[in-house]
Amino acid sequence: MLVKDHKDIYRQFKVIFEREGLDRIDERLAVLEAFLDTENHMTASELTRILREKGVSFLEDFVAENLKLFSQYGFAQEESFIGQVHRYEHRHLGRHHDHLICVRCGTILEFYSPEIEALQGEVARRMGFYDLQHRMEIYGLCSNCLRTREPTMPLTMATPGERVRIVGFMGGRGAERRLTSMGLNQGAEVEVIKSSGPGPLIVASRETRIALGFGMARKIMVSTAQNNE
Ligand SMILES: [Zn+2]
Ligand SMILES: [Zn+2]
Ligand SMILES: [Zn+2]
Repeated sequence: MLVKDHKDIYRQFKVIFEREGLDRIDERLAVLEAFLDTENHMTASELTRILREKGVSFLEDFVAENLKLFSQYGFAQEESFIGQVHRYEHRHLGRHHDHLICVRCGTILEFYSPEIEALQGEVARRMGFYDLQHRMEIYGLCSNCLRTREPTMPLTMATPGERVRIVGFMGGRGAERRLTSMGLNQGAEVEVIKSSGPGPLIVASRETRIALGFGMARKIMVSTAQNNE
């Protein structure tokens, strides 16, 4: 989202922080300026690196402290997406958006749907609830990750939360028999609960959770089952 009111934010910030009696005002303003110049969902370490590239070296802790202050005073929005370190983005007063988060590459996309917004308000009202604020986060795979991934892959490559179909087995008949006896036969659809260590992989076949050793799971070839919701 592009903003034209950075100068105004800069001025408001200066007034507030002088009134609060904070030290290092100019340095804080430099952090704010770098933050406002980006249009991404930034981590403290990413912003520290950007500042360093501009020739300003701050400790990451100082940058993080300022990002926290910016959000306390309503200039930034702190986002804690599942599986990611805290990120900050601009907070545009009166403007709201929601997020799509790619669990594979970490890409964050923004969206705004008037229909969804209205429906959420309606749901809250129906429950006698007054809606102050909400967050909607959709976790999944971005179009790029979907395009570049293999059509079939070992089960160990699947993403937690993903529904996959078993398309075949590597290795001998013994392994196949064992898997089939667990209900993991060719054509079966499973939901991936946990696809990495420590400990076994967990998949769910209908109502049953099945634990698999890594070596065994690697022998199961799967494809995405997204067409069969
Ligand atoms: Zn929303
Ligand atoms: Zn992605
Ligand atoms: Zn955002």
